Amino acid sequence: MAKNIQAIRGMHDILPDKSPLWHFLEQQTRSVLDSYGYRELRTPVVEMTELFKRSIGEVTDIVEKEMYTFEDRNGDSLTLRPECTASCVRAGIESGLFHNQVQRLWYYGPMFRHERPQKGRYRQFYQIGAEAYGLTGPDIDIEMILLTRRIWECLGLEGLELQINTLGTSAERAVYREQLVAYLSERRGQLDEDSLRRLDSNPLRILDSKNPDMQELTAGAPSLMDYLGEESKEHFRSLCAGLEAAGVPYVVNTRLVRGLDYYARTVFEWVTDRLGAQGTVCAGGRYDGLVEQLGGRATPAVGFAMGVERLIVLLEEREIPLELQTLDAYLVLVGDTPQRQGMLLADRLRREVPGLRLMTHCGGGSFKSQFKKADRSGARFALVLGEDELAQGIIGVKYLREEREQEQVALDDLAGYLREKI
Ligand code: ATP
Ligand code: MG
Repeated sequence: MAKNIQAIRGMHDILPDKSPLWHFLEQQTRSVLDSYGYRELRTPVVEMTELFKRSIGEVTDIVEKEMYTFEDRNGDSLTLRPECTASCVRAGIESGLFHNQVQRLWYYGPMFRHERPQKGRYRQFYQIGAEAYGLTGPDIDIEMILLTRRIWECLGLEGLELQINTLGTSAERAVYREQLVAYLSERRGQLDEDSLRRLDSNPLRILDSKNPDMQELTAGAPSLMDYLGEESKEHFRSLCAGLEAAGVPYVVNTRLVRGLDYYARTVFEWVTDRLGAQGTVCAGGRYDGLVEQLGGRATPAVGFAMGVERLIVLLEEREIPLELQTLDAYLVLVGDTPQRQGMLLADRLRREVPGLRLMTHCGGGSFKSQFKKADRSGARFALVLGEDELAQGIIGVKYLREEREQEQVALDDLAGYLREKI
């Protein structure tokens, strides 16, 4: 016998039992984004490979080793998106969304990265993110952080820690970078393999190495904070003051860095210690240089992305009583005419009784076998329509979860009866 085909490693089905939790997260998040005036942007999951090379940068983990890249039939190199910021910028430039306008946008969808799968780290995973264009901050940076805090509140998630940092401008970082490289070069012998590689290509990334030895080594390195100009310092001070005024606790984590030139000033992450090494549930920051780098007019930008699977794990721990998708009624149909007319009756009832969850029996069978299915469906009651009932213009109502006599309701009164029951 042929071997069953399985899902690709690191890619998962979200089974029907789990979807209520996903819906809860999606609905809450959408309504928060909506309440802040953000609008949804949907982009294709496939883009030209060049887009990610030019935006994320050749010397990042994503572009170096994590992208799903393939050749289209016409020879173009395409890539399944590993993140969505690049696509938002591409779409914004292409459709003129940034011309003298402020845009507050959000997106939701699957991203693809060829990483080693583990808890909280998959090859297909979902992100919900927001991006704001045309504002230099720090007010909008604060808004973004408040917005994420509101999402945790609506999801009932507690204990997430906000970490912030500033990266200054690319000119300030260039000066700092030299000092950092000088410091690390003197200690070249102590660098691990990754850090040695990054020393030339992307030295700032060494600061956020997960290797404890590297963390110890960089603890004594020069600090970017000391290389900031007055404007960047003021930006960061206002950010901190804004967070304090809004009552958002934060810690400054100077290891929070992004290696690329287009980043500017604010970076932030929301982290938890409940997910092991995969503790970041949301990462964001300012990327003032990217729109121009991708060919648009210089446009300041800030955004964040949340990892949905990691949030789902936190929600599962909370065991929130979600409204289960249980049926109200199961329509039992015995006989040719009831089967034909029952389908139409059910359709009319769904139209006339808002919110009614009604499943119609399909496939025929005896009363007994249909009642068994009605019971297994989880419905509160069965509606019973046989030839006799139809002839009398009535329907039987049998309660499946409580001791109660079967009732009879005139077909004409049925919609009103159900409206009162659900
Ligand atoms: P990490 O350091 O965990 O690899 P990252 O810096 O690559 O994260 P970002 O590109 O900033 O992550 O993505 C934002 C968020 O998306 C992360 O904080 C995380 O919650 C989620 N995320 C990133 N990669 C994955 C993945 N492979 N599987 C599941 N969630 C992910
Ligand atoms: Mg990663």
